[in-house]
Amino acid sequence: MSAQVHQTSSLKEYFAALASGVFTSLKGMWITFRYVWAVKPVSIEYPEVREVLPDRARMRLFNDVQNCISCTQCAMACPVDCIYIASEKFPEGTEIKKTSNGQPIRLHLTQFTIDTALCCYCGLCTTVCPTECLTHSHDFEFSAYTIDQMKYDYLAPDIIAWRDRIVKS
Ligand code: SF4
Ligand code: SF4
Repeated sequence: MSAQVHQTSSLKEYFAALASGVFTSLKGMWITFRYVWAVKPVSIEYPEVREVLPDRARMRLFNDVQNCISCTQCAMACPVDCIYIASEKFPEGTEIKKTSNGQPIRLHLTQFTIDTALCCYCGLCTTVCPTECLTHSHDFEFSAYTIDQMKYDYLAPDIIAWRDRIVKS
C-alpha cells in the first residue's frame, strides 16, 4: 500500500514538472514571437543604415576657419587644454575682412589644432565661440589607426574641405 502511494505522488510530481516546463517554454516563445511580429526592432543594419542623430549631438569638432577671429576663447574654456591656436597681426594696411556674422577679423590665424584624442566632447569651446565657427558636427565615424591621426589641423586643405558636407548654411 505504501509503495502504491509513493508511486502516485511521484507521478503527480512528474506531470506537474512537465506542465510547468511546457508552460514556461510557451511563455518564453510568446515573448519571442511578440518581438518578431509586434515590436519594432531597435537594431539597424549599420553601415548601410545610419542613425539620425539628435540636433544637439556632439560628435567630431569642426572649425570653419574662414570665420575664426583667433580670439582663443575656445582654448581658454577647454578643460583639457587640447586646442592649440596661434595667430599674428596682419601687415600694415591690410584690408580687415569680416566673418559671416559681421565680426572683424583682426588677426591672421596661423594654427588651429585640436587633439581630439584628449577631447571629452563637453561642448564648452563651441558654446563660447563668438562667431559660431567652431561646432560639433554629426560626424561620428572617425576612428584612426594611430593616436596622432586624432590631432586635426583645421588649416589643412583636406580638413577645410569637410566644410562642404558639414556646414549647412
Ligand atoms: S569639446 Fe573638447 S575641445 Fe571643446 S572644450 Fe570640451 S574638451 Fe575641449
Ligand atoms: S572661440 Fe571661435 S573664433 Fe575664437 S578662436 Fe575659437 S574658434 Fe576661433
